[in-house]
Amino acid sequence: MVAVMKKVSDIFKEKEQTYSFELFPPKTDEGYQKLIATIGQLAGLKPDFISCTYGAGGGNRDKTLEIVERIEKEHQISGVAHLTCVLNTKDQIKDILTEIKNRGICNVLALRGDPPKDQPNWQPGPDNFKYSSELVAFIRQHFGDHFSIGVAGFPEGHILCPDRDQDAKFLKMKIDAGADYVITQLFFNNRDYFQYMDRLEDLGIKARVIPGIIPITDYHAIVKFCQSCGAGIPQKITAVFDPIQDDKDAVLKTGIECCTVQCRELLSRGAPGVHFYTLNKFHPTDVILPAIRR
Ligand SMILES: Cc1cc2nc3c(=O)[nH]c(=O)nc-3n(C[C@H](O)[C@H](O)[C@H](O)COP(=O)(O)OP(=O)(O)OC[C@H]3O[C@@H](n4cnc5c(N)ncnc54)[C@H](O)[C@@H]3O)c2cc1C
Repeated sequence: MVAVMKKVSDIFKEKEQTYSFELFPPKTDEGYQKLIATIGQLAGLKPDFISCTYGAGGGNRDKTLEIVERIEKEHQISGVAHLTCVLNTKDQIKDILTEIKNRGICNVLALRGDPPKDQPNWQPGPDNFKYSSELVAFIRQHFGDHFSIGVAGFPEGHILCPDRDQDAKFLKMKIDAGADYVITQLFFNNRDYFQYMDRLEDLGIKARVIPGIIPITDYHAIVKFCQSCGAGIPQKITAVFDPIQDDKDAVLKTGIECCTVQCRELLSRGAPGVHFYTLNKFHPTDVILPAIRR
């Protein structure tokens, strides 16, 4: 009999605000061993749940479930397995979901994903899902209420759908298909999040929308990532970081300060928690979370 940890949707019934982390599967054995140690440290911060990506940026797909299972079994913390449509057929998706269920995992983040760098022209065919809303509907159709399902949200619109109103309507399709909650793409301007919340409210969306937050620890890497995913870097960030961009210590210190201010404002104005993109590191989440936790 496999022990089943709490569903994220049940954690919401107990807590108004949740604090959670995202990890990704490392590509090397050494990275994997390091991650296992980091998970032990992160567990000490008592997050409400920890999610692990699936194939993001061409990452190792095979390890996602193993990592989520270890988070649950070794630390008694709910784990969320990300799952993407790209490259997988519907039958393969069904098999993966069955494996997730058999491992005792009851939380998934249902995503479309992006074609990997080595197959940039991959297109979904009749055996694939085109959009994550189809994946959500499929999970509900075949697995009923076994899973609590999260989906991705884009406060600034998605890179392929910069029309924010239209993108919000696509989010509504994911919720209507059976998703329980939303985790957002990283953003640095809280006004984008609150305006997004207004748009979603106008559409009647009541699901929790948890801000996905990244502390700036490597400014060059953040700029590159934001360019690739379409997230904006507001002038108030460039003004602070451009002059110190090559000073690692100054970037880290300022990154912690900015992130702490950002999270405090989000939480005090009603955001239902914070999901940290940890990049598989303990620091600086170890400093920021205790400073903002309510
Ligand atoms: C919190 C979070 C976690 C992530 N984790 C991973 C991960 O683990 N692995 C990974 O590979 N990637 C991950 N990503 C990246 C994500 O897969 C990409 O951003 C992807 O391009 C969009 O995924 P989605 O699930 O939002 O797709 P969808 O909801 O399918 O949307 C994709 C695009 O199609 C548009 N669209 C949606 N529905 C329709 C429709 N019916 N008709 C026309 N257009 C439509 C949307 O506006 C958007 O432009 C994550 C992103 C976030 C925010």
